[in-house]
Amino acid sequence: MAESVGLKDLVRAAKERLGEVPAADLAAHIAEEFNIQLKPAIVLALLGSLQEQAALDRNRARAKEEGERLAAEQALAAKDAPREKRKARTAPTPTQTAGSLREPKTCPACGGDYSFRGRKLVCEEAGGPELVETKYRCRACENEWRVRVPAESVGPLGTPKAPPA
Ligand SMILES: [Zn+2]
Repeated sequence: MAESVGLKDLVRAAKERLGEVPAADLAAHIAEEFNIQLKPAIVLALLGSLQEQAALDRNRARAKEEGERLAAEQALAAKDAPREKRKARTAPTPTQTAGSLREPKTCPACGGDYSFRGRKLVCEEAGGPELVETKYRCRACENEWRVRVPAESVGPLGTPKAPPA
């Protein structure tokens, strides 16, 4: 087997020197440089096994990368886990109800200013009255909370109804 590895190395060296040339040219080069006579068919076979080897190496490198990527993801997930646990320990602010969207709103946790996150129509029970639920997030402490108001106190979704004239 040692001999065939040696021949493979010769073919690899010849190919590195000459590039993409016919097997006969590689054989001629090997004969000239190393005084070893190889039939072009043997050179072809050796080239084939070199290519196989290269493909195997590529696959191995890819598998290694994939393994490293997975390990990195798992490390990240492990880092995130405690953060999620911490979040779970703080009880989420229960959804509040208000008479209208005009009622002043501050963060229930810290009294801070909020940013508007979204608004949607909800129904507490099937067939029950429609409510407009608005989601807010505190700019200071990132607490999130929702406020529900009766849909009829709201104008076109998203804007407070104009007060009666
Ligand atoms: Zn807050």
